[in-house]
Amino acid sequence: MVGLDQVLAARDRIAGQVVQTPVALSDRLSAHAGGPVWLKLEHRQTTGAFKLRGAANAVALLGDVAGVTTASTGNHGRALAHAARARGLRAVICLSRLVPQNKIDAITALGAEARIIGDSQDDAFLEAQRLERDEGFALIPPFDHADVIAGQGTLALEILDQIPQAAGIAVPLSGGGLLAGAAVAAKALRPDIRIIGLCMERGAAMAASLAAGQPVEVTELATLADSLGGGIGLSNRLTYPMVRDLMDDLILLTEDQIATGLRHLAHDGHVVEGAAAVGAAAVLAGRLAGPFPLVLILSGSNIDPAAHAAILRAA
Ligand SMILES: *Cc1c(COP(=O)(O)O)cnc(C)c1O
Repeated sequence: MVGLDQVLAARDRIAGQVVQTPVALSDRLSAHAGGPVWLKLEHRQTTGAFKLRGAANAVALLGDVAGVTTASTGNHGRALAHAARARGLRAVICLSRLVPQNKIDAITALGAEARIIGDSQDDAFLEAQRLERDEGFALIPPFDHADVIAGQGTLALEILDQIPQAAGIAVPLSGGGLLAGAAVAAKALRPDIRIIGLCMERGAAMAASLAAGQPVEVTELATLADSLGGGIGLSNRLTYPMVRDLMDDLILLTEDQIATGLRHLAHDGHVVEGAAAVGAAAVLAGRLAGPFPLVLILSGSNIDPAAHAAILRAA
């Protein structure tokens, strides 16, 4: 299982590989919310998202392996490729034929192999499992893994160092690795702190699973918060129970609200992807007013510049 000790150990382990991202008080969001709202600028993390924390911790804990693999096309795949290169390990990121060329290029630019297999992410995942079974690779999943969760939790340690009086942390939520790790660490240090999960309405797998009382599948729908898409895994072992037990509130946002949050942050000079704009979206929609001081995690910046510009123009 994952507790504060694992998160503290992860912090030491990854110290040289991740940057301590800054925090900034947002005057405009504070005025909207009626109390101090801080931004944790984690979109400035190496590889553009917090995912490097979990990937670097998991890779550092590996024994003798032929390489690492995963089937994630997004920020986790990128982080894993980076972490593997830093350790001189091979990384094979398994992708389906449907993945656009720019994502393939981003992976190969980090020195990893992009292996194109089949017509769906499920086929790509089967190849990652085969590499683990037959070729001695370690399959590092994007969230449901103790070392990944512990690595993501280091973000909460940093927040509490930077804003010791924080009363609430608003966390973008998908598979729940970030929320689980952040919540377990923050609540061990500050039992009264509130952890608020944020997700889009369209295809919120964790929300549907919590409502059903067990992990369920949802239809994946196009969303501005694409890094929050995808399922939590029907055989989820760790993040589902941790999120269920540790999250105090869950707020689901519409696409319009997310776009408004993204535009607001861009106006203040923070170019973030949709998944990272859900906290600002909730404040601006009047759905998140405290507890104060409130910290919003800007979780990633990996958005196609043309897509970002189009959202700004659509205002
Ligand atoms: C992965 C990701 C999330 C969600 O993290 P989970 O651990 O899957 O809940 C949020 N924001 C960004 C930018 C991400 O890449």
